[in-house]
Amino acid sequence: MSKDPTLLTPGPLTTSAATKRAMLHDWGSRESSFIETNARVRERLLAIANAGDSHVCVPLQGSGTFVVEAVLGTVIPRQSKSLVLINGAYGKRMTRMLETMGRATVTLETPEDRPPSAEAVDTALASDNDVTHVLAVHCETTSGILNPIEEIADVTAKRGRVLIIDAMSAFGAIPLDAERISFDAVMASANKCLEGVPGVGFAIVRRRALEAAEGNAHSLSLDLFDQWRAMEGNGQWRFTPPTHVIFALAAALDQFDAEGGVEGRGRRYAENCRILTAGMRRMGFCTLLPDSLQAPIIVTFLMPADPRFRFQEFYDSLRDKGFVIYPGKLTVAETFRMGCIGHIGPAEMRAAVDAVQETIEEMGVETGAPAAA
Ligand SMILES: *Cc1c(COP(=O)(O)O)cnc(C)c1O
Repeated sequence: MSKDPTLLTPGPLTTSAATKRAMLHDWGSRESSFIETNARVRERLLAIANAGDSHVCVPLQGSGTFVVEAVLGTVIPRQSKSLVLINGAYGKRMTRMLETMGRATVTLETPEDRPPSAEAVDTALASDNDVTHVLAVHCETTSGILNPIEEIADVTAKRGRVLIIDAMSAFGAIPLDAERISFDAVMASANKCLEGVPGVGFAIVRRRALEAAEGNAHSLSLDLFDQWRAMEGNGQWRFTPPTHVIFALAAALDQFDAEGGVEGRGRRYAENCRILTAGMRRMGFCTLLPDSLQAPIIVTFLMPADPRFRFQEFYDSLRDKGFVIYPGKLTVAETFRMGCIGHIGPAEMRAAVDAVQETIEEMGVETGAPAAA
């Protein structure tokens, strides 16, 4: 078997052998070993957010988008109005979901390389008393920007509104503490900073908000209240559970704990990010974001100006050398992205930088510098 490539992408990502090995069995959905593991995983996910009895963890089959849509449809009442903070694709996606469901929505958009300001949120809330919910993205994976979630939470709470956070690409690596940040729901998935495999998302939801959400949902399969009720009832999933994904997540959480939880994981990713960014800058590449706005999750690089640099050739050559990178999807600039997350460390990041160096030499590209602004 040839060696798998190192995935420098924001999920699916490189997982450990122990995580993959955890899937080498078959389980029935009603087996006690599965039901117990599932219950334990839910408790552990709650603990990562430092959420106690005030919140519950509800997992849902599918990629992260499914749980985002389930939360919006279930937790936001039909007669409500949401303010979505947009600075990338995932804020836009939440807006489309709300529009699809027919829920009133307003947006506050900033360029992809700029975070929303708490003052602007405050002004928007002050001028619109109909807004009940504020929707924010913690790390906007589109650019890799870290949005100021604590400040947004503070103004949202001060104005007496409810906060919902898409923390998909940050959960487990960037602290999000339910005792310090007031939120009604946080959404994340197994296959990002927790280093599990794709197939399940989950939400940490305020118990009171979920209890009040019966009948809100626009969809049967995405009804998070129903999913929760059923699971609380007999410990089982409503529909076929992603058994292997849950066991892989349990194994991934053991490794997460052994690494020192959010702090340990965040530290490794920050070091990955530092090695990557420093190495790329030595070759002239420029990051889209200043370091002060960069989350240690995924880094966006501006396309080099050298006409010999052709992205597809660069991508294919890195793939041949064992590294999968990610195209950009920004509107502000031509870019590509390289991730810092997954079961990878300094050795993989240095090897990735070396592979980039080799590749641009092969292409005859002298510098990774972008066109002067
Ligand atoms: C990955 C991600 C999602 C979910 O994307 P899927 O492709 O459905 O897993 C949602 N929001 C953010 C910020 C993400 O990074």
